[in-house]
Amino acid sequence: MPEGPSVRKFQLLTSPFVGQVVAKVGGSSRKLNVNDLNALRLQDSQDEELQEAQHSRSEAPEAAEGRGNWLRIHFGMFGSIRANEFSRASRANKRGDWKDPVPKLVLHFESGGFLVFYNCRMLWCSSPRADPASDILSVEFHRGRALRALCAPDPICYTLQDQRYFSGLGNIIKNEILYLARIHPLTPGSLLALSDLERLLDCAVQFSSEWLHNKLRGQGLHPQVYQKEQCPLGHAVMKGTFGPSGGFKRLTWWCPQCQPAVLPGDGDPSPVTE
Ligand SMILES: [Zn+2]
Repeated sequence: MPEGPSVRKFQLLTSPFVGQVVAKVGGSSRKLNVNDLNALRLQDSQDEELQEAQHSRSEAPEAAEGRGNWLRIHFGMFGSIRANEFSRASRANKRGDWKDPVPKLVLHFESGGFLVFYNCRMLWCSSPRADPASDILSVEFHRGRALRALCAPDPICYTLQDQRYFSGLGNIIKNEILYLARIHPLTPGSLLALSDLERLLDCAVQFSSEWLHNKLRGQGLHPQVYQKEQCPLGHAVMKGTFGPSGGFKRLTWWCPQCQPAVLPGDGDPSPVTE
């Protein structure tokens, strides 16, 4: 599940090519027959998906039969996309060679521009999954619906990783915004005041927007608790694997001092004393 800022960077880089025809294909991908993409028109780009349609060619390649017409691209932690430039080696490898990264896929368009994809997995699928109402970085984000979801008696970290309400909110954002809002990840949403949930949503939107801006300037992310041993205040950070029973479990980091646990009590949430 891609994080919102990665998705938005993808959209910003790919949208100028929507409507253009692929003139030449390159890349090292062995999972995908990259030549299937030749002469196709880029119809749309959403999330981390490209829609390719047959371009005025009568015969469809055999390999294209039966597959969807959306190419889904998973970037994971190390994948990246570039427009009109290749990634260059930033340092020498162990043998002292300056070897540039090898792209998985290069799409050259008729305009002369090109898109380059590194360290990603690609597969054909039939439809995009995105619902802008659940995308925290979309102007169509439905804040009321997200707030109602957060009020559920489930642990708040389960609701945040529910892609029906929070698409693009991945594990890094989940951990960081719970820290910023000072909320323990296992707190049942129903025990939190509406003002706390509002603040959590504000943190989600602000953190994601800042991450996107940093990404576009080529700057990295500096998490406060995600994969950290200490929070910025020097407290030891805890780590656990949380998720709904029968559902997807994710590694979660939190600071027990900055994010004290809340016990189900008589309506008035109070921090647990150690
Ligand atoms: Zn702390």
